[in-house]
Amino acid sequence: MIIEFRDPVLRWFAVIAAIAILISGIAYRSIQDLIENSHLINATHEILETLSDTLASLGDISGGQRGYVLTGQEEFLAPYHVALTRIDEGLERLARLIVDNPSQQRRLPQIRSKIEEHLASAAATIASRRDDGLEAAREMVLTGRGEAVANELRQLLAAMAEDARRALEIRTEAADKAVRGTLAVGGSGVATTILVLLFVFLFIRRENVHREAATAEIASSLHKMRQLTRDIKLSGKMVELLQSCRAPHEAHIVIEKMVPQLLPEVAGAVCLINSPQNAVEAVVTWGGPTGAAGRSVFAPDDCWALRRGRMHLVEDSQLDPVCAHAMPADGMGETLRREPANRGSPVVRLCVPMIAHGEALGVMYLRSNQTSMLTEDMQDLARTVSEQIGLALSNLKLQETLRAQSVRDPLTGLFNRRYMEASLQREISHAHRHGQAIGIVMLDIDHFKRFNDTFGHEAGDAVLAEFGRLLKSRSRGEDIACRYGGEEFMLILPEAPLEVAVERAEQLRQSVHALKVEHHGQSLGLITASFGVAAFKVHGEGAEDMIRAADAALYRAKEQGRDRVVAAETAEMITLSA
Ligand code: GH3
Ligand code: MG
Ligand code: MG
Repeated sequence: MIIEFRDPVLRWFAVIAAIAILISGIAYRSIQDLIENSHLINATHEILETLSDTLASLGDISGGQRGYVLTGQEEFLAPYHVALTRIDEGLERLARLIVDNPSQQRRLPQIRSKIEEHLASAAATIASRRDDGLEAAREMVLTGRGEAVANELRQLLAAMAEDARRALEIRTEAADKAVRGTLAVGGSGVATTILVLLFVFLFIRRENVHREAATAEIASSLHKMRQLTRDIKLSGKMVELLQSCRAPHEAHIVIEKMVPQLLPEVAGAVCLINSPQNAVEAVVTWGGPTGAAGRSVFAPDDCWALRRGRMHLVEDSQLDPVCAHAMPADGMGETLRREPANRGSPVVRLCVPMIAHGEALGVMYLRSNQTSMLTEDMQDLARTVSEQIGLALSNLKLQETLRAQSVRDPLTGLFNRRYMEASLQREISHAHRHGQAIGIVMLDIDHFKRFNDTFGHEAGDAVLAEFGRLLKSRSRGEDIACRYGGEEFMLILPEAPLEVAVERAEQLRQSVHALKVEHHGQSLGLITASFGVAAFKVHGEGAEDMIRAADAALYRAKEQGRDRVVAAETAEMITLSA
């Protein structure tokens, strides 16, 4: 079985276990050696002891024999008898102790035979004394045979003791070595254990640090995710609200409420390009802690983001150029400016161009004195928000253009006939409910055909456009001025009774007199118009009746010589001539 130690912890554990097994093995061997040596040393000591006992017993044999020979008294033989037993025991023990020592073993038979010889000689001397008396025994002693054997025996025992002593020295030295080895192994075991503990401690600490870092990372990711979810929800809500807007001013309110929630602690402005004037105008502003967000009107070239068509971030005003519109209106005209150094807390500025359908609509400008509030994530969010706002505003602009095109006459800018009819119906319903008056004035430019014939169709168009402008400028907010068709116009005057409508028509007639239209530097001369006036309920309760009455009054104004105001007929006919 092959175990792969991919996990570093397992790998380290295997190394430590191997070291521990090695140390244990060495320690076991050292202790075994030590035990074995101590057994051998004990055995050697026992050999030496036995040899010394044997020598002492031989001395007792000689002494007992001598005492008996001299005195003839049996009690002197007591040590002799004890020594005999001890010698036998000693020889047996010696044979056991040297069983694994061949060189010593070789000596043992010699010793045994010499001891037997010596004991036999002593026994013979004692027997001679006992049987033949002192002199015979003295004779035997004087032969010196017994002493010679004793000396030989002593030499043999001394040689054996010498061997044992040498062996003892060697074994003591080996034992010392084994002790030193055991100590070294023990020491290295302790050192290794300390190292292992240290390693385990460091490892656990490192793991803890890693775990803490991982926990912090998870917490931060969780926070980011929550933030993202919140941003997605908020921007979704903003998009939905923007899509429900019917007019730009509604969208401005949505922007003002929603963007500060999406980009908190950030002041900002949404500035739109006003194409005819080529000016950028702040249509929505919101203040964060940094206060107002730059100028309210500026040239497109005052913004680096608009110039380059990409986001412009200024984190350090000493390093990056600050847009002119982002500076307070302090008379500094140049666009490549630097902010005065050391202004306290650093201000971060971000301009995000708003581009929709390939057309630059304006710029979203953000300003914060906390760098943490315009991080890269926030910049991405700002870009998305600005795209959504740009798209919504562009759609609203388009809707407005289409709506205007569907209700307005392009030449005069007045409402068209369709719109007029719908409006008149609406006003009549309203007047019915509230018991209010409505006056209508039908106008027709006198001899208009002549302008076309004399100065050309374009000149005629110029007269119509100018006439339209005049009608618009003379109308109140609630009045509805329309081009009825050709050079005929209609004015709906809500809440105006017949007299007021006639009066308003008269004022208008006089204003037409004052109208001066030039075409290619040439004056087109006096312009006059004829007016027919009718009123709700006075000339009918329906739109058709009222229009018919006004038309008839206009026809009569023409008939009566033009350039006049004629009220529609009721019981009597009122003519207000010039
Ligand atoms: P009257 O005083 O009786 O109203 O005379 P008039 O010439 O104003 O009236 P008429 O109905 O004879 O002529 C109206 C002319 O207006 C006919 C038409 O060619 C011209 N006209 C209608 N619409 C336009 C327009 O949009 N532009 C121009 N230039 N002329 C138009
Ligand atoms: Mg006319
Ligand atoms: Mg006409």
